[in-house]
Amino acid sequence: MNVLVINAGSSSLKYQLLNPESGVLLAKGLCERIGIDGKFTYKADGKATKDAVDVSMPTHAEAIQAVMDALTDPANGVIGSMKEIDAVGHRVVHGGEAFNKSVLITDEVLKAIEDCIPLAPLHNPANLTGIRACQKVMPGVPMVAVFDTAFHQTMPARAYMYALPYEYYENDKVRRYGFHGTSHKYVAGRAAAMLGKKPEELKLISCHLGNGSSVTAVDGGRSVDTSMGFTPLAGVPMGTRSGDLDAGILQYLMNKYGLSIDEMLNILNKKSGVQGVSGVSSDFRDLTDAFERGNERAGLAVDMFNYGVKKLIGAYAAAMGGVDAVIFTAGVGENSAAQRMAIASGLEFMGVKMDADANKVRGKEAVISAADSRVKVLLIPTNEELMIAMDTASIVK
Ligand code: AMP
Repeated sequence: MNVLVINAGSSSLKYQLLNPESGVLLAKGLCERIGIDGKFTYKADGKATKDAVDVSMPTHAEAIQAVMDALTDPANGVIGSMKEIDAVGHRVVHGGEAFNKSVLITDEVLKAIEDCIPLAPLHNPANLTGIRACQKVMPGVPMVAVFDTAFHQTMPARAYMYALPYEYYENDKVRRYGFHGTSHKYVAGRAAAMLGKKPEELKLISCHLGNGSSVTAVDGGRSVDTSMGFTPLAGVPMGTRSGDLDAGILQYLMNKYGLSIDEMLNILNKKSGVQGVSGVSSDFRDLTDAFERGNERAGLAVDMFNYGVKKLIGAYAAAMGGVDAVIFTAGVGENSAAQRMAIASGLEFMGVKMDADANKVRGKEAVISAADSRVKVLLIPTNEELMIAMDTASIVK
């Protein structure tokens, strides 16, 4: 079975063609500058990435057509015809409270995704555009929507409610939704496989640490708390996002500097986080380099991030009444041995004992805790596309 996984942005479209049973990636690529001119980059498995080519892409439909042409190209393609694509899995950012799992796309589902636009005004319209373009170019092929929020719909009310007047929840849907659900679900499933246990038997803390970061408590295979909130601005400090802060700061700064709420939010989303604190970069590699050259603020930014993640591990262990394994994933979690060590050290009191040698690993599944560590620490590379393909396959079968 072949599943085409689509992640559509407002002017871009990423795709992978995968076999969800074997996990084999057949091809992947990226369409950019849709609606402007159109740039297309394509890589068939086992072959070098083709140089970006200019393809006219007035809309997402031409982008999908370019993807089809590349996949079926006699010289560079990987399939004989479009008929070899059995289903399409679409990443959709926000499913609100309407979706607690992936679903086959119908007219009602499209309407419900539309209803979630106020909750994700930048992402959901782009995701819908991608779905409609695919329906136009590939009529009759079953399509599935996979939501970033769905995995977290199992959180209990005490974890997802904000202590605001209740009507803001009832009337306006203001609550914690959480994001990165596809990634947290994937690594939690892999952790169970690595530990030889059923998901129902495990209490896990999944740390997705990248440019955007979130930490999730997974009890018995279900998300029971997560650090991102109503929007992806909440939780630990990120590349350029502030993470949690005292809302009183907004009033203070807006009054003092005459900022509009849009200007304030732009600062919180684009100019804060480790970028804001360091003044150097949003990229953790740059921060480590800068700190090694003596830049104290770069060191402080990384330290604040690591400390924020460590506190959440403690909090979620308390929330679940224990933890069997802590998982590190995404750009920082998969690559930075130093940050994993900084986050997980000092947690010996709760049974976490790292193995410095085992931790010298990057980008592959590994147990990085000591043999006698009561809580296992796991490095698990995330694979959201494969998770989307697996969900899609299980629904269309
Ligand atoms: P992601 O959003 O998951 O793609 O993660 C991107 C982030 O991973 C980048 O901003 C980098 O800061 C971080 N990253 C990638 N490689 C390393 C590394 N070797 N050490 C520290 N951070 C890294």
